[in-house]
Order: sequence, then structure tokens, then C-alpha cells
Amino acid sequence: MYAIQHPPINNICPALVNGLMHALKTLAMLALLFNSTVIFAGEQKMVTTASTNGELDTIIKGKINYYNSMYPDIRFVHLEGGKDWTGELIAIITMLGSQVSAMDYEHPPELREDVMEVSLARLRRMLKYDIVSATQFRLGQDSIFERPQLCVITLNPDAFVASDRAATQYMLDVSDEVLEKVHPSRYLNHKDHLEFTLDHEAYHCLDSHYHGGAPMTHETLGGEYHLFRRESIADAYAMAKHIKSRRKVTTYARNMVHYRALWLFTDSPNRCTFETIREVLKYPPDTLVTMSDMELGKLAIELRDGAVRPYDGYVRQRSAALKAAKVLGLDPALYGDQWCDCEKMETDPGLVASLVNRYRYYYDQLFTNNVIPLEAPPLTKVLQR
Ligand SMILES: [Zn+2]
Repeated sequence: MYAIQHPPINNICPALVNGLMHALKTLAMLALLFNSTVIFAGEQKMVTTASTNGELDTIIKGKINYYNSMYPDIRFVHLEGGKDWTGELIAIITMLGSQVSAMDYEHPPELREDVMEVSLARLRRMLKYDIVSATQFRLGQDSIFERPQLCVITLNPDAFVASDRAATQYMLDVSDEVLEKVHPSRYLNHKDHLEFTLDHEAYHCLDSHYHGGAPMTHETLGGEYHLFRRESIADAYAMAKHIKSRRKVTTYARNMVHYRALWLFTDSPNRCTFETIREVLKYPPDTLVTMSDMELGKLAIELRDGAVRPYDGYVRQRSAALKAAKVLGLDPALYGDQWCDCEKMETDPGLVASLVNRYRYYYDQLFTNNVIPLEAPPLTKVLQR
């Protein structure tokens, strides 16, 4: 068994959320009257749960302040989740104003309320289960926030990046037993990882702001495809920011590329951004150092468009990945119901073999401190196994 899987996190059932949102809105009003645990003064977040790690808190505040100073149309806020997640959610919901709309999914005006409910249900899930996420809103006229848009980033540092070891285990989703065997040189630097992740999430909001949300589609896997494109560009941007600030390709950068290759089977395949993110490591760091955020964003688009296949190729790759998962003894249920059609498709045996090989190769390298070349191993080695 190579890894443990968990289900994709973006499937939301709108039917479940209507009653819930109504209840939450009512609760929110009561909370404002009787509970002062979460207080917002104007646009500034004053109190949430106490941070257990001042250093991580400083990194988070620094990043949030940076994006707030760079993008005056967007108010960036961080929600920590943890045990007071309901208080944070209530506070946000009551401050959005009326006629607020969610910006991460393109939709006609008549679907505004439906998309809002789905987006708030997703936000609730992210907070409840300490999942890192970003959600972008166009605020109502009567919102307490003075800027027209709001970017809500959820990230619980205690759950996500308490230490190098914790950050590594969270990313790899492996047991303590497997983690013991992972070579320490493969551990993610947790502070680097926190910064990278905040840049990644902030870019999701910038993506919705500048390019619109994920487009509407009638293709069976169209929603998944556009999510994959958004994940790829956010990773490329965050990695470019990381290399720019460190002025070189770091061990963290190499480890992240390594982990993204494994994510084809560890998390949602839509976060397996390996093909795009490794292109950033091939880009001259000296050039990245001279580039503005805008230029890094443009570069991220270029690299993503060069690396991510058109829709048909994406479906072929996922169909091959399903077969590869079976060869590896992994549970294809990881990919959810939408795999049914892919399963019936004819797949390219060479592509399946290369995905199997790539996974085995990167998995085995977790236990070594070899410097891994950025190119995946050649297919001929697969055929020899
Ligand atoms: Zn993302």
C-alpha cells in the first residue's frame, strides 16, 4: 500500500445546506447580540482564538497585511478555524451585507443565491475540518467592509504547520509508522510552507478578481478540469514568489514538487500540479527576483498554459490515472463517482505505465536523500520493471 487517501473536498451537496444556512444566519444575529468572542472593528479583525505560536501568527499577519496593501479593492482576512470556527463563520456571514455574491464560480445573476449558499457551505466545511481554502466575495452595499471585495482565507496553523514534521505528515497523509521512515531531508520547512500556502490561497482570490471564477461548463469533467487549472496557476504563482524571496531553488521548492507528483494519488488529482510547478523550478531564479507580483502572475499563466493539457487530454490522463491507481493497489474511490465514464474509456498503456512509474519513483525517493532530477524518469525504466 503506497498511501492513504481521503475523498475530494470540493463536492458539495446544495440540498443539504439550505436549512443549515438559515439556521446559521439566525444564530449569527443572536451571537452578535450576546457573544463578544469574535469582534470586528471596522475592517480589522481584533480577537479570535489565541495563537499558540507567535512566530506563525506573525507570518500570517505579515502576508495578510502585504496583500491588503497591494490590492486596495480586496479586503483579505484570515480565519483560523479550530474550536471557535462557528464564531468566525457567524461573524463573516453577518458582515457580508445584502446582495453579496460569490466570485469563484462564474454564474448568471439568477443563480446568485444558490451559488452563495454553496460557497458558504463550502466555507463552513473548510473551517469545521481545518482545511486550507480561499473564498472570494463581491460584497453588498451595506457590508461593514469598506472595500468592494472580500477574500477569506481559512488556515489553522496548529493543524497544518505546527512543525516540519507535522507539515510533512499533513501533506503526505501517511501514518506515523511511514513518517518515521521518511528521510528528514524530505521534510517540508513549515515556515516556508505556511508562506507558500498563503500565497497560493491569496492567488485563488486574485484569479477570481482578475480572470473571473471557474467558467460554466457542460462537459462531464469540466468543473474538475477548471479546478485543476486554477490549482496549477495558484501553485505556479506561489512557487515563483517563494523562489523570488529566497533568490534560489531551495530544498523546500524541490520537496514541494516531489509531493505534488505524489498527490495524483494522495489528495484530489486536481491538486497534482506537478507538470506546472516544476516548470517554475526550471525558470532562472535571477529573473524571478526582478519580477513584480503582476509579472509573476503572468508567468504563472504562461507556465500553466504550457503544461496543462486541453480538456480531452485531461480526461485521458485521469482515465489513465484510474488504471494506474488500480495497478498500484490504491483505492480508485478516491476520485468519486465521476470516474465511472473514465473507467470505460480506452486508455493509452504507455501513459498508464508512466504514471505508475512516476508514483513508484517519487514514493521510493521519500526514504532517501538523493537529489531528484526535475524530469520524471523515462518510460523505458517502467517497461523494465
Ligand atoms: Zn488551491
